[in-house]
Amino acid sequence: MPPGQHMTAEEFRHYGRAMVDWVADYLERVDDLPVLSQVAPGEIRARLPANPPEDGEPFDDVLADVDRVIVPGLTHWQSPSFFAYFPANTSGPSILGEMLSAGLGVQGMLWATSPACTEVETLMLDWMAELLGLPERFRSDGAGGGVLQDSASSATLCALLAARERSTGGSGDSPAAQLVIYATSEAHSSVEKAARIAGLGSKGVHLIPIDEHHAMRPDALDAALTEDVAAGRTPCLVVATVGTTGSNAIDPVAAIAEITARHGAWLHVDAAMSGIAALCEELRWLHDGLDRADSYCVNPHKWMLTNFDCDCFYVADREPLVRALSILPEYLRNVASDSGAVVDYRDWQVPLGRRFRALKLWFVIRHYGGSGLRRHVREHVALAQEFADWVRADRSWELAAPAPLNLVCVRHRDGDAVTQQVLERLNASGAAYLTHTRLDDRFVLRVAIGGSATGRAHVERLWHLLRDTADAVSSESDR
Ligand SMILES: *Cc1c(COP(=O)(O)O)cnc(C)c1O
Repeated sequence: MPPGQHMTAEEFRHYGRAMVDWVADYLERVDDLPVLSQVAPGEIRARLPANPPEDGEPFDDVLADVDRVIVPGLTHWQSPSFFAYFPANTSGPSILGEMLSAGLGVQGMLWATSPACTEVETLMLDWMAELLGLPERFRSDGAGGGVLQDSASSATLCALLAARERSTGGSGDSPAAQLVIYATSEAHSSVEKAARIAGLGSKGVHLIPIDEHHAMRPDALDAALTEDVAAGRTPCLVVATVGTTGSNAIDPVAAIAEITARHGAWLHVDAAMSGIAALCEELRWLHDGLDRADSYCVNPHKWMLTNFDCDCFYVADREPLVRALSILPEYLRNVASDSGAVVDYRDWQVPLGRRFRALKLWFVIRHYGGSGLRRHVREHVALAQEFADWVRADRSWELAAPAPLNLVCVRHRDGDAVTQQVLERLNASGAAYLTHTRLDDRFVLRVAIGGSATGRAHVERLWHLLRDTADAVSSESDR
C-alpha cells in the first residue's frame, strides 16, 4: 500500500485479521498486566510526535506504536482483577458487533436513513424488557417504548427534559414557577448535571435525606414535595436509584412512586448497573414498584457483556419525550416520517446522529441467550456474597454497607488512614485495582465484581492482598 492512499480490500483484510489477533492476544494476557496504568501525566504524549505527519505512514508502524505507546498508558478495564468504579465488561460477540457497526458506517438518525438500525433497536429494547421482566408499559407496542442512549447520564437528562415538557405543558418557554428535581446525595452526579444543563440551577435540586442503608427516606421525600408546593415551586422530577454508585443502596421505588404520583411529578428510576441483576428472577425484587415509574434506565455496557456505549432508556409515555426533543427542519423531511408509521430515534435523544448500537446487543443476546446471561450475573453475585462473608468473619475488616448484589463496600477497623493506605499500595502494585467512596463520613473501599473473566481465584487473591497489605501497613506504623 502506498501510504496516503486508501487501503485496498486486500490490505484491509490483512490488517483487520492482525487487529483481531491483537485483541484476542490482549484479552488472553490482560490478567498479567498491571491493572492501573503506572505512567506519569504527560508521559504518553511525550512519546509521540508533537506534529501530525505530512505524508502517510505504513500501517505496521501505527500498530507497533499501539504496543510501544498506548498499552503502557492503559488502565485495564478488562482485567479480571479490575474491581474499581463499576464493571465495563465486554465479550467476543459485542466486540464483533462494534466492528460490524464501524464497518457499515451507518447513521441511524431517521428510520429512512437505515430502517434496520431503527427496527433492530426497537426489537432489542423489547427483548431487554422481556429478559429483565420490566413492566408492560415500557414495551414499544403501547404508548411507551425504549431507545438506546450513549449513557445513563443522557438517560437522566432526557428524563428531565420529558418531565419538564410535561410539567410546563410544552410551551418551551421558561416556566413561571421554579421547577425542582429530587434525589438523594447518593444519586449519581448526572442528576445535578442534568439540572444544570436544563437550566434549573442549584435551587432546582432538592436533596432528600437517606436512611441508615443510604437509601432515600420516603417520609422525607413527601415532606420536601409538600414544602415546595406550599412555597409555590413545581415538583418536576424524582430520581430513584436502584443500586447507587457509591454503595449499591436501593431506594424504595414503590413508596417513592406513590408519593411522586400524588404530587404529579415524573418518576425516573436509574438502575444503571444493578438493573442487569433483574435478568435473574430471584433478584427481581429490585424492581418492586417500577410499574408506576415514568421512565427507567439500565446499562448493558456495565454488567451485561456489551461494550460501552449502550444504555437502555425506557419511557411509559413517549409523547412528552418526543415533544421535548423533536424539531423538523426541511432537509430531514421524508415520506416515511410524514406517514407517522415509523420511529425516528433522533427525536428520543439530544444529538441528531446515532450509531448502529443495537447490533452489539443483538449479537450478545443471541450468543449467550437468556440462560447464558443469567449464569454470568449469578456467578458475580455469588462471588460478591462469598467475599462479603469473608469480611463478616474477619476481625480486622468490616462491611460498610449492605451488599445485596455484586458491590461490596469494606473498611479496615483501624480507621480511615489504614484503609486509605491499603488502597494506595494495592493500586500502586498493579495487582488489582479498587476505588473508594465516603459513607457515613468514613473512607470506604468499593469492590465491584463484574468483569467478564473475573473468577473465584481473582476474588480470593484480592482478599489475600487486602489482608496482607493491611498487615504490612499496621506493622510499619507499630515500629
Ligand atoms: C454508572 C452509573 C451512572 C452513569 O452511567 P453512564 O452510563 O456512564 O453515564 C448513573 N447512575 C448510576 C446509578 C450508575 O451506577
